[in-house]
Order: sequence, then structure tokens, then C-alpha cells
Amino acid sequence: MATQNDCCVKVCLRIRPQMAKEKIEGCHICTSVTPGEPQVLLGKDKAFTYDFVFDIDVQQQAIYSACVHKLIEGCFEGYNATVFAYGQTGSGKTYTMGTGFDVTVSEDEQGIIPRAVRQLFQGIQRRQMEAQESGTHPPEFKVSAQFLELYNEEILDLFDSTRDPGRKSNIKIHEDSSGGIYTSGVTSRLVSSEEELLQCLKLGALSRTTASTQMNAQSSRSHAIFTIHLCQMRVCPQTQLANGSVSAEVNGVADGSVSQAEYETLTAKFHFVDLAGSERLKRTGATGDRAREGISINCGLLALGNVISALGDQSKKAGHVPYRDSKLTRLLQDSLGGNSRTVMIACVSPSDRDFMETLNTLKYANRAR
Ligand code: ADP
Ligand code: MG
Repeated sequence: MATQNDCCVKVCLRIRPQMAKEKIEGCHICTSVTPGEPQVLLGKDKAFTYDFVFDIDVQQQAIYSACVHKLIEGCFEGYNATVFAYGQTGSGKTYTMGTGFDVTVSEDEQGIIPRAVRQLFQGIQRRQMEAQESGTHPPEFKVSAQFLELYNEEILDLFDSTRDPGRKSNIKIHEDSSGGIYTSGVTSRLVSSEEELLQCLKLGALSRTTASTQMNAQSSRSHAIFTIHLCQMRVCPQTQLANGSVSAEVNGVADGSVSQAEYETLTAKFHFVDLAGSERLKRTGATGDRAREGISINCGLLALGNVISALGDQSKKAGHVPYRDSKLTRLLQDSLGGNSRTVMIACVSPSDRDFMETLNTLKYANRAR
């Protein structure tokens, strides 16, 4: 069994506060967090332990610091990362990820994506300033973003304003010779500031497909994947060490003399995934088209569960990880496992009315450990 530290997937549980409606209708809270332990008790006797457990009153900032901050720093060193939110509709996935189109929410209430975008651009600025101050050649950065939606095992481009909902997209997923995953036919937005990137997020979120169900008029039946690509060209840290100060050589380039400084290009991508609702079809009363949507949504969630579980199981590490079982896991393949960092945030409701769905989510999250 993998211990917390050597497992490449961190699993967090977030319990949202009760909504006014739940209070009015007399729902009781059926979750309790063990003080000082990352453990939750559901009902009287169902205990689960994760890497982190965030109770009702934990704020966005605290969740960001604990789960995501380190992953952005890793991107500057070339490590891919994935954060995904899992849970039934209404459990707080979109609130937690910050994938909603309302980017005008107060700063305290901002979700993960806007915070990550800020940290990213602050990190870029800091690195450039530090280089300038120390007389080193400043690193160069390129940031681009993609926003995809997976719906019925079909990939839609949320940045493509000309897409025709009735026509199949020609987006394809490819793998290069070193195992890197890339897509073709997808709009990539090159951005140069926090504001520009957030504006892209907002436009994409607005065009996201949603269909109403009995459960929630804004129920999301699709997976939304927001991806940031970071490309960095910098002076190799080793050359800096070896030469003491690199600045002389770098300045030398400008005078046309030969440089001894070596450059490296680091690339990393960060996927932010707001998964489709995990609730079972029975409960939403879905029929016809809806049922079909439900089936392929579950195909992605099922495959993701299997991949995460295979990654978490040390004994299977060298063995088969079933990435190819769904478009979702295929897209995320090079950002789950290996050298990548993955955080799963399982979102649940505290109300007794949602007991069974909460139990399902706790079990799903448990498989990752
Ligand atoms: P999901 O995306 O899982 O369907 P949402 O993120 O839309 O769920 O959350 C459902 C509702 O609960 C929204 O109105 C959201 O603002 C609210 N909500 C969710 N989590 C929290 C939280 N931690 N604090 C305050 N409100 C929350
Ligand atoms: Mg949502």
C-alpha cells in the first residue's frame, strides 16, 4: 500500500456548507471531521482517511495553498500537473475549481483557476526581475491556454466561437515518440497577462454546454478541461553554477562574442478539470438522450477511477494503466502519473439527503489511495 508521500496522486476531500434550501428543508449534517486528522466520518461508522480533509468552514485560499500552490511551482521546473474536482452535481466542483463564468466574484471566493493564473504570472515576473537584478539573461516565457469540453466521448473546443454544435469536431488526440500527448484541431490562445487569460476562461465557460435535469437547472453533464501550457527558455542553472556569474557570457552574445552559457527549454502543462456530475442516472430521472449522456459520462469517470487506482497501487506501478479506455484519461495521460503531480479534490454535500451519493464519492476517492 502506498504511503501518503510516495503516492503520485494526492486525494483531498472538501465538504461544502449546507445551502439555505437544505437548512430550510430540515436536512441534518451527516459528516464530521476528526479533529487534527485528515479523516471524515459519514453517519456513525463509515470512516475514511485522505491526504487532506477540508471541513465546511475551510476557505478557498486555504485549499489552494494546501493543494495547488506547489504544483504551479513545479510547472516552472517542467513538471506537468492535473487538478480535478470530482463529485455529484451541486457538491461544489465548479465553485472549487473556479470554472464558472463569473470571474467578478470577490477575491476571497475565487476558485483554483484564477488563483493559479495569478501565481503563474507573478512567478514569471519574479523570475524575470530576479534575473535582471542579478545581471543574468532573463528567462523568456510563453503562456497559452486551451479549453475543452468532453461530452458523450466527443471533444468540443470552447475557444472556437465558430463551432457548430450539430457537427462533429475534427479534434484528435496524438501521442509523440516520447509519450507526450498533444491535440490537433484545437484553438490555442497565446496570452501575456493574468487579465487576458482570465478573459479567455470567462468566454469559454460561457459557451460550455449545460443541460438541465430534475436535480439542478445548471447541471453539468460534461467534463471541462482548462489547460495552461508554459514554455520557458532560460539559462541552465548548472551553467550559472559552473561559471559563477553567467551575465558576462550572456552580455557577450550581444557583442557577438562566443557564449559559454547554455540555454534550456522547459515545457509544462497544467490541466484543471471540472468533472461531470458523478450521480447515478436513477436519481436524476434521466431518460433517452440524457441516459446516453450519462452512460458516456460514467465511461470517463470509470476510466479515471481505474487509472488513478492503478497509479496509487505500488504493486501495479510497472503494469498496465488503462489510459486508453476513455477520451478523458487519454487526454490527461502524460499529466497523470510518472513525473506529474495529480490532485483529486472530492467534493461532497454534508446533508443526510445526499448520504448515498456522498458515500459513493468517498469510496471513489478511497480507491486512489
Ligand atoms: P457543482 O459544480 O459540483 O455542480 P457548484 O460548484 O455549482 O457545484 O456548487 C453548488 C452551489 O453551492 C453553488 O451555488 C455554489 O456557489 C455553492 N457552494 C459550493 N461550495 C461552496 C463553498 N465551499 N462555500 C460556499 N458556497 C459553496
Ligand atoms: Mg458545476
